[in-house]
Amino acid sequence: MEHVGKDDWQAFFFSAPNRALHARVASHLFEGCGDCLERAREVLAVTGGLEVADNRQALSILLHESALLKDETRKAEGNWVRLALLDEKTRDKTMMSRWRFKKLGLATYVLDEAERLLARGKRDKAKELVRISAAVTSCLPPRVYGLPLLADLKLRQETVLSNISRLSLDFMGALEALQRADKARHQGIDLVEKARFFRVQGMLLFDLGEFEEGAKAARARRLLHEEMHDLKCKGRALLQEAMILAQFDPVNGLARANQGLDLLKPSDCHPFVSGVFYKAYCLLKLGGVEDASKIVSDHRELVHQDADPGMELWFRYLDALILHSKGKTKDAEAILIYTALRFREEGLFLWHDGCSRHLLVDRLRAGLEN
Ligand SMILES: [Zn+2]
Repeated sequence: MEHVGKDDWQAFFFSAPNRALHARVASHLFEGCGDCLERAREVLAVTGGLEVADNRQALSILLHESALLKDETRKAEGNWVRLALLDEKTRDKTMMSRWRFKKLGLATYVLDEAERLLARGKRDKAKELVRISAAVTSCLPPRVYGLPLLADLKLRQETVLSNISRLSLDFMGALEALQRADKARHQGIDLVEKARFFRVQGMLLFDLGEFEEGAKAARARRLLHEEMHDLKCKGRALLQEAMILAQFDPVNGLARANQGLDLLKPSDCHPFVSGVFYKAYCLLKLGGVEDASKIVSDHRELVHQDADPGMELWFRYLDALILHSKGKTKDAEAILIYTALRFREEGLFLWHDGCSRHLLVDRLRAGLEN
């Protein structure tokens, strides 16, 4: 196939959106032409600017920077507002029949919305939006966008769906969605999506008590962030590893917690505070009661100010473990009972990164027995 010419690159990135040109360039790049990929990176200065070492990731970024996809992204919010006003039946019919809605940018935007809703705890609404994103995706022509980009979209949809099911304590549904995601993972190219997959897989396996496999998933996530030179996400991934390793390998759990905390700041609130928690938790498991106690008291104010009520209760749980280690069993039990009651009262059955209700009581109990 013919190489992409200099004028074509200008048009591809900076002129009016052109589906035929996008399809031609995407298809050529997916065929693996290294020369053209290099030229495209130069045109966008991706090499210097974004320091993307991985060719697949560079390709994913380049295609999303095309005039076509940028235009779709710009119009996505407006198109979604039109669709959101319709009832379900009319909306589905409209999406399938009008070209203005058959856009990768719209499918991505709706998925972004789903994740925002999920972060606010609106799981049913988030699930509905993933379904809409998938419906839009099913109408997208692979010859325009390229199969790998559609696979990345599918990977993200199934991964988000898995996370929604996990948070709804539907573990079977979460595993099934993750299996579908895994199939798409091998066809996609975006490392960010692959990292998201491993993050959710790690959390799901943690919930299910499959700690060794969960730690492997968290490690795979960390290596992807390393490859992308994303230090903040790498810090978060290290803390996920620490969380899982803390259950069966506190020596390495402590090492990961320290490495993760080095990459984050106290202003990173939740991840930072959870890192402090796992550092103290691992120290405690390794017999370092005084060190754990100092870390907890050094960060008590930060936890009180910045952590959500669930995390604050977990720190109370640490207090109980520390008191228990110091031989103050009655005080430890009193705090433990208080903590368990508060978890129930607050409806905090789920914790951000893992522990679901049916595991919670066992964990609280096991903590004292260890
Ligand atoms: Zn070429």
